[in-house]
Formats: sequence, C-alpha cells, structure tokens
Amino acid sequence: MDTSFFTGWLDEIARLVAEQREHLTRLDAAIGDADHGTNLDRGFAAVKAALAESPPSTPGGALTLAGTTLIRKVGGASGPLYGTAFRQMGRTLGDAEEISLKDLATAMGSALAGVQRLGAAAEGDKTMVDALAPAVQALTRAAEEGAEPSEAFEAAARAAREGAKATVPMQARKGRASYLGPRSVGHEDPGAASTALVLEALHAVGA
Ligand code: ADP
Ligand code: MG
Ligand code: MG
Repeated sequence: MDTSFFTGWLDEIARLVAEQREHLTRLDAAIGDADHGTNLDRGFAAVKAALAESPPSTPGGALTLAGTTLIRKVGGASGPLYGTAFRQMGRTLGDAEEISLKDLATAMGSALAGVQRLGAAAEGDKTMVDALAPAVQALTRAAEEGAEPSEAFEAAARAAREGAKATVPMQARKGRASYLGPRSVGHEDPGAASTALVLEALHAVGA
C-alpha cells in the first residue's frame, strides 16, 4: 500500500462522513450535543483540502497531515482523539513508501494506544474505543494469518461495525454522554459509529 492508497482512504472517509453527517449528528443529539456529524465533516473536508494543497510523499506523511488537520479543525472530544489516532499511525509508519498489512495493523494498534492514553477509555465505556479495539484485533489477526488485505479490511470493518452496535446497551463512562448516566443506555455511541465508517472506508478502497 502506497501513498495514493492512503490519500484514497482519507478521501473515502471524507466522502462517507459527509454522506452520514446527519446520521452521526442524530446519534450525538440523543446522548450528547448534536455536533458529531458536523464536527467530523468539517474536519475531514479540511483533511481532503490539505492533502490536495500539499500532496504528501509518504503514507506516514499523509496520515500525519490528516491528524494535525483534525486537531486544528475539530473541537470537542473527537478532534484531539481522532487527530491523535491519525498522527500516531503516521508516526508509526515513519517514512516508509510501501506499507504491508502487518505495518498497518501495528500502526492502528498505536492509534488505539494513543486514543486510550489521551482519553483513558477502556472497552465497554461506550466510546470510539469500542469500535477501534475490535477492528485492531481483527486486522492484527488477519495480518498474522497472512490474509489478503481485502479480507483483512473486510474483517476489520465488520468488527468495527459490530463493536459500534454493541455500544447500544452500554452506559457511557467517558465523554459528554457519561453525564446522562443510565439515560445513555439504548443509543449507539456516535464516535463508535464514525470509527466504523473509517474502517468501512478502508474496506471500500482496499476491496
Ligand atoms: P463532543 O462530545 O465534545 O461534542 P463529539 O461529539 O465530536 O465531541 O464526539 C463525541 C464522541 O467522542 C463520543 O461519541 C465518543 O465516542 C468519543 N469520546 C468522548 N470522550 C472520549 C474518551 N475519553 N475516550 C474515547 N472516546 C471519547
Ligand atoms: Mg458532540
Ligand atoms: Mg461538542
């Protein structure tokens, strides 16, 4: 996977987030402040613009630029968290020009670690971690088994989607939704839903 694969992934995330903006905002209206869709749409539209303005020369460069742009453009909880995730991926990939499935699985593992270091959420706290952690696990397992990238991405996307769905019965213990206590039960976490889109985009470009 080369630089154009990664810019393609980021462009596809931007497209899916724009398409699902109202849905993400509706999820956030139920247990937050109804801005998750607009936050991410603004952020990834800016990522797309930044990539077009200063085309990166490595996969790591593309992901780092994405992370930095997200931190700059997206406020709230999700900006720094998503920004950290992409910057960690970029940093882990370094200046390599060609990325293997194993490299990507390792990079995504470091993204998860970065998110958890910053936000201190564990699995089960009803956050993006509940989609990201199973996706990392699926990607790592597939890479270790020598799967084709397309199979690995499909498994990771499915794991993220199922992880997001599994947040519905959870009570939020982190972020704004945690203020609702038991009233946060019965709704899908918006950040977990957007993380599922990030993995769905990977599957779409890598299929
Ligand atoms: P805000 O809550 O500041 O309005 P967003 O609505 O854009 O920010 O994002 C909310 C999402 O951020 C939540 O649905 C959740 O997935 C994620 N989130 C919030 N706090 C944390 C945390 N401490 N760790 C991981 N994810 C978190
Ligand atoms: Mg919000
Ligand atoms: Mg907000």
